[in-house]
Amino acid sequence: MSKPRVAIFDFACCEGCQLQIVNLEEEILDLIGAVDMVKWREAMSESSEDYDIAIIEGSITRPEDEDRIRSIRSRAKVLIAIGACATMGGLNKLKNNFDMDDVRQCVYGDAGRMEHLDTAPTKAVDEVVKVDYKVHGCPMNPEEFTYVVRCLLMGKTPHIPDYPVCVECKMKENVCRWEYGEICLGPITRAGCGAKCPSASFRCFGCRGYVDDPNMTAAKDVMDKYGLSVDMLKSKLVLFGSKQGPSYE
Ligand code: SF4
Ligand code: SF4
Ligand code: SF4
Repeated sequence: MSKPRVAIFDFACCEGCQLQIVNLEEEILDLIGAVDMVKWREAMSESSEDYDIAIIEGSITRPEDEDRIRSIRSRAKVLIAIGACATMGGLNKLKNNFDMDDVRQCVYGDAGRMEHLDTAPTKAVDEVVKVDYKVHGCPMNPEEFTYVVRCLLMGKTPHIPDYPVCVECKMKENVCRWEYGEICLGPITRAGCGAKCPSASFRCFGCRGYVDDPNMTAAKDVMDKYGLSVDMLKSKLVLFGSKQGPSYE
């Protein structure tokens, strides 16, 4: 039986998620042995447009990106979005909160008028094409990545948690960050990272995106309990939740 042909593509991003793949070290040899890598700009010089599985890192920020991702989708049987940039637009979506001319001017100064810098609002990959599987996080969780790929190779459907980070956090018996006066997004953020940030004494800032049905009423109740305003919560949501997700009105 022939091995599935796999190609990795990057769009607007820091390439930190691809680095997570490279950092898999010994495990990457097992994975690469089980597939036929045909395209991976960051790690190989060969390149082919004939692939079964497309792995996408980065968000869609320009009209030509939309054409490119549609072309990739049309060739791939399975498309996996890796990392917050690809799964929800990530940090790149911050610019959606501002006027695009102001964004160009702020980043590039006078050079911002150059035509090729013409930019559209940032989109997650699934705002342009169908995404079959998502590997969440910024950077993506490498264990979740190998789990998803292994499931695909075995013909199984991967199951990604759809419960909040708080569940994993409580199981680790962490003291809640709210007790320190911090606005932690764990109650509405998708678990699967093992509550990495609260376990290291940081609040969760929502890099895995919202659970499918976030309990906003409970989140508001928590804000009330700690004497904090909904606006303060909204300000924390901007980092990974710009122009998307549930309404807090
Ligand atoms: S999700 Fe984070 S680590 Fe991954 S490419 Fe985007 S910014 Fe970089
Ligand atoms: S620290 Fe955050 S993730 Fe942990 S229980 Fe509190 S709100 Fe939930
Ligand atoms: S705790 Fe929150 S911010 Fe930290 S890795 Fe997990 S989902 Fe991301």
